[in-house]
Amino acid sequence: MHPLRARQRLFSLLPLLARAAALLLVLMLPWRLMAAEPAAMLVAVSASQSESQLGPHTAVLEDPQGQWTPATLPQTSGAWQPRATPSLNFGFSKSVWWTRVTLSNTGPQQVERVLDLGSSLADEADVYVLGPGGHERLHMASGDRRPFASRGEPVRTIATRLILPPGETLTVLMRLAAHDGLHEIITPTLWAPEAFAEHMQTETLIFGLYYGVLVTMMLYNVFLFISTRQSTFGFYVAYIASFLAWGLVFRGYAFQYWWPNAPDFNNQVLPFIVSLLYLSLGLFLMRYLDTRHSVSPRLHRIVATCTAANGIGILPVFMGLYALTFALNTLIALGMIISLIVAGHVLVYQGSRPARYFASAFALLAMAALIYYLRVLGLVPANGLTDNIVQIGSAAEVLILAFGLADQMNMLKTEKLHAEHQALVAQTALTTRLESLVSSRTQELEAANLRLANLSVTDELTGAHNRRQFNKDLAAAVALHSRHHTPLALCLLDVDHFKLYNDRYGHPAGDEVLQKIALILRQQLQRASDHAYRVGGEEFAILLDINEPPEKVRRFIEQMREAIHALAITHEGSPVGLVSISMGLVILKGLSATRSPAELYSQADTLLYRAKQAGRNQLVSQTLD
Ligand code: GH3
Ligand code: MG
Ligand code: MG
Repeated sequence: MHPLRARQRLFSLLPLLARAAALLLVLMLPWRLMAAEPAAMLVAVSASQSESQLGPHTAVLEDPQGQWTPATLPQTSGAWQPRATPSLNFGFSKSVWWTRVTLSNTGPQQVERVLDLGSSLADEADVYVLGPGGHERLHMASGDRRPFASRGEPVRTIATRLILPPGETLTVLMRLAAHDGLHEIITPTLWAPEAFAEHMQTETLIFGLYYGVLVTMMLYNVFLFISTRQSTFGFYVAYIASFLAWGLVFRGYAFQYWWPNAPDFNNQVLPFIVSLLYLSLGLFLMRYLDTRHSVSPRLHRIVATCTAANGIGILPVFMGLYALTFALNTLIALGMIISLIVAGHVLVYQGSRPARYFASAFALLAMAALIYYLRVLGLVPANGLTDNIVQIGSAAEVLILAFGLADQMNMLKTEKLHAEHQALVAQTALTTRLESLVSSRTQELEAANLRLANLSVTDELTGAHNRRQFNKDLAAAVALHSRHHTPLALCLLDVDHFKLYNDRYGHPAGDEVLQKIALILRQQLQRASDHAYRVGGEEFAILLDINEPPEKVRRFIEQMREAIHALAITHEGSPVGLVSISMGLVILKGLSATRSPAELYSQADTLLYRAKQAGRNQLVSQTLD
């Protein structure tokens, strides 16, 4: 299979896989719910155990008025509800919630443990450790609405250190209050100090890698944005940046390192960042999927409105209404995501490549989120994979979207190259056509010029050279004779009694006679240097470049006269009864004195006149000294 097609198949398969996995998890739910039973309330702590989840051993109590203290808490077992899940989630609730777990050190040595709430965001978390008889051994008043220094352990989550003397049983109470009714999920865990340190290290390493991926993607896209100026990259950068900021605040790193003494700010900034996150995500996806042009205007308007609404969601933050902001943001974001998923699906079915990347990326993220919530509910086991599933899912999402962007850039490049190639082909074709046109026009022009040149030196009626060419050739021949002593012969011939012929047979018949005479002359003059010219009405001239003795030339000319006579054209006006000619021939030998063309011509004409005088139909010649 073609790799591109294979990739397309894979990406169209991913959403399906995600759905299948989600379905499987949902099918597992009832079974897990039935299986979920509270474990024993007493947790035996021994030196050999490095980590224990306290959630399943915890009982909880709702304190709607927030009136109780550890001393006044109701002790009846009916008031306390056992919980079966590792994570405790009280959701939206105005009440204060108490949790209770009993720890017993059955061993012979003192045991030191770290109690970690697994959350950095619980607003007010008071941890009480009561010894036998209800004596308070420890009280940590912490939570993210209190300065960072209030924490027992200087880590991103809320944690404190406990000492369990040998053989003692301790009660650990937690009072959890939410600032304005939104409780954070906590996952209380008891750690051996070394195991906790290692856990924190591993976690830091994983987050470090994760943030490294995000920072790299962000910087890479910053450069892409700078070099391409495409808003898609800009919004993608804003999305990763707010995602990064959200992660740092949500996981408590920002509070720990950046503003440990500003708990209120830490709380207000979170929903603000969440709103920015959704806003930039919506804007990015609108650009990336090109909803303005790719889906119906109505769907685009819905997506755009839902995206813009994230901006309004920020407002209650400034009034300190954390829970309201959170609820409002979640609702708005949910609407936006649903509208985007609808748009994405419409586009996937239209075969859009960007939409396929989008669908794959979000299917993975949704699957990761689902697994995480199931983990919180205790329906899938808590382990390294499920603990970090949201990070893995979101990193995969960011990477797939980056691939999508790269693919889009690639496609644009391919389209550009294709267009350039097309333009080049068209240009080459045009040039070739132009060149052939120019060359054929040039040939035509050359032929026309040649025809014109021929016309300018040819007599129209007989096809012999004309008077102008005769003048030129005679001058050249005379020049050649004077320089190189080349011998030459000039003969003038005139049709006898031609006026009478015209009168008797008509002018057209006379033309025909002239044509026949020209033809005979052409036939007789075979050498390239010998030419016949029509120099007047019924007068012709012959120019010969000779090497033979004068007598031979004379005979040659005489043959022409005889050949014309032999045509036997009846001419009743002539004494001989046939068309005849008279000729005057001048021969200039190599050593003869040079004459001017005019002198030579006039001499030939004189000889012709003599031939007429002597009775016509004859040749009179003279060789000049
Ligand atoms: P001679 O024997 O003394 O040469 O008598 P001739 O009649 O030939 O001489 P003349 O000079 O008196 O007449 C020349 C005639 O040639 C006059 C003209 O009608 C004829 N002629 C000149 N050019 C053409 C032409 O192009 N076509 C035809 N058919 N006749 C022509
Ligand atoms: Mg004449
Ligand atoms: Mg004549």
